[in-house]
Amino acid sequence: MSTIRFRALELAQQREPRVSSAAANTGKISDIFGMYVFTMSTMQKYLSKDPYNSVMAAIETGQQIDRKVADAVASSMKAWAQEFGATHYTHWFQPLTGSTAEKHDSFFEISSDGRAMENFSGSALVQQEPDASSFPNGGIRNTFEARGYTAWDPSSPAFIMESGSSRTLCIPTIFVSYTGETLDYKAPLLKALHVLDKAAVDVCQYFDKNVTRVSPTLGIEQEYFLVDSALFEARPDLALTGRTLFGHASAKGQQLEDHYFGSIPDRVLAYMSDFETEAFKLGIPLKTRHNEVAPSQFECAPIFEEINLAVDHNQLLMDLMGKVAMRHNFRVLLHEKPYAGVNGSGKHNNWSLSTNTGKNLLSPGKTPKTNLQFLTFFVNTIKGVFDHADLLRASIASAGNDHRLGANEAPPAIMSCFLGSQLSAMLDEIEEKVANKKMTPEEKTNLKLDIGKIPEILLDNTDRNRTSPFAFTGNKFEFRAVGSSANCASAMLVLNTIMANQLKIFKGEVDALIASGVEKSEAILRVLRSYIVSSKAIRFEGNGYGDEWVVEAEKRGLSNIKTTPPALDVFVSKSSRKLFVDNNIMSERELEARHEILLETYVKKIQIESRVAGDLAINHVLPAAVAHQNGLLENVLGMKELGMKPAMYATQMEMLEKISIHIQALNKHTYEMIEERKKANNMTDMHKKAAAYCDKVKPHLDTLRDHADNLEQLVDDELWPLPKYRELLFIK
Ligand code: ADP
Ligand code: MG
Repeated sequence: MSTIRFRALELAQQREPRVSSAAANTGKISDIFGMYVFTMSTMQKYLSKDPYNSVMAAIETGQQIDRKVADAVASSMKAWAQEFGATHYTHWFQPLTGSTAEKHDSFFEISSDGRAMENFSGSALVQQEPDASSFPNGGIRNTFEARGYTAWDPSSPAFIMESGSSRTLCIPTIFVSYTGETLDYKAPLLKALHVLDKAAVDVCQYFDKNVTRVSPTLGIEQEYFLVDSALFEARPDLALTGRTLFGHASAKGQQLEDHYFGSIPDRVLAYMSDFETEAFKLGIPLKTRHNEVAPSQFECAPIFEEINLAVDHNQLLMDLMGKVAMRHNFRVLLHEKPYAGVNGSGKHNNWSLSTNTGKNLLSPGKTPKTNLQFLTFFVNTIKGVFDHADLLRASIASAGNDHRLGANEAPPAIMSCFLGSQLSAMLDEIEEKVANKKMTPEEKTNLKLDIGKIPEILLDNTDRNRTSPFAFTGNKFEFRAVGSSANCASAMLVLNTIMANQLKIFKGEVDALIASGVEKSEAILRVLRSYIVSSKAIRFEGNGYGDEWVVEAEKRGLSNIKTTPPALDVFVSKSSRKLFVDNNIMSERELEARHEILLETYVKKIQIESRVAGDLAINHVLPAAVAHQNGLLENVLGMKELGMKPAMYATQMEMLEKISIHIQALNKHTYEMIEERKKANNMTDMHKKAAAYCDKVKPHLDTLRDHADNLEQLVDDELWPLPKYRELLFIK
């Protein structure tokens, strides 16, 4: 009798919604919003005018903050944080492990005359040296020179993290090696945003001289699963890998589509309100919550923000969701594919560009001129995505996301852009009319009038293609292939670098035409036309989940990179190197280090999954199957002994045979997998090792699963040790 499973089930059934003090909060969101954030206006209250202005200038222009100003800011931060009872501070950073990292120090110090006091100096604010020797560094920083450091990012505000009764002042920082190479997600993202700002402002000058700053905006839709914590604990695979490695499909899954947008169970709603309250305090502007397609799958989304902040907020949110889940006896599963056979989870990245004049550059305006500006940014995005589609694929590659791309309801690994039929037709028209010659004045007017119609077009452009990895949705692009557990900075640093680079090329080409005497708007249209023609292959309006698309995409020469190791290789391809180096985002060394780190992370993930699958097979599944086999054996022997005819126990013999075949196979494949793992582990070249894990070890996971799931169907339910899908997937 499998006691762990049944005890867990019992616990899960008895759960009641937990009404926490936070969830019971009936006040207005605006009363608590941002209360734990050292916002600009808070800073203004605590700082005198001069240092405040210096910090503002530093945020605007990226200029250095001097020591005196840093001291003033630090002491104001400390005063503010102490009012909330904060005793410690930490530099909060985003190493390439994908999660966030913190090392806490207290404000507490002993002065030279022996007095106990609280202190927080400017230098402690600006720079710290965490003993970070065990963060991945891809060979850049040898462990014996454990001197990476974190440096303050003033563009993302400090905040207070509450955990139980302790409160910590958190300072968003970048993480670099002592030789200055970036070892995190934030530093290259900030560089990309800076380069894009300049490139986009330059292009905006064609249309509006008042534009002096362009910042991309991002709204991140976060999908996740919830599972009862007792059931989670009874599944070593969920607990150690975040996904179920075995598990036969539940008779009822998502086929009735009764969960999607259905009413949210009370227990889940209590959890949601609780983490939302915590998020509001931290200034995370959550706006929507709903059920997703799979059972026990949910989604939340914030109001969009400037990218750096949106990414920080999403990292914080994932952390909060995990912590608050524990209080509700839930575990939150952020893995891209926790369960086979039902939808996986993604994180749609809604991306646009906004100017200091308050204009969304991907939102059409009212006049032909503003619409030409819209078309410029719209077409350049498509061209950039076309030229660097493989790099975008690389930016979202992970062991978890491999299960999702191309699987049930996930965009495929083939990058394509959905524009909607009307905008697509508009581009076709430009292609046709703006031949690479001088247009007649009449043609020009006609075209301009057509361009002026864009807002109307968009209003009734209601087709919402959900199967495209990169879709235009009215006033923004939606990059949907990002995995639910990912740090969005990876996708965003790539997308924004691509865009910056593309806009620079565009400006160069248009300026050259203007210099040769072509009128400005015609020059712009001509260059756009050439992009419309050359990037045509990336435009796809059909069903991205269909098999026909795979065939069609191949004909068009689009890549379909299905697994992570080859996808990651694109980070170090010739064109990616050039892109990152030319735009000053990352050096070759940094790219190589990043490539190595990501491969290593992949290897470790598959290695852990493979070990856990082996343990589950040998220690959980096989003993249960053998116990069941023994029961059958006893039965057959007993019947024989009683002198019954073989026909009377033929069924039991058949059952015995079936179960024995799967027992044998499960055992055999487990040991074959272990052999492959040993071989892979002996490889020193990370590239080869990752390929071995992907091509030699990983396929065994599917074989093991197949036999284990067959056994799950054959073995007495009472003997089965692992909570089953039907038990995991439905929250009462
Ligand atoms: P969906 O139908 O895909 O759920 P929503 O309109 O609910 O679309 O928006 C999803 C996300 O897109 C939200 O986080 C929202 O804030 C964000 N979003 C809306 N406009 C923009 C924009 N201009 N830039 C970036 N994100 C945006
Ligand atoms: Mg969406």
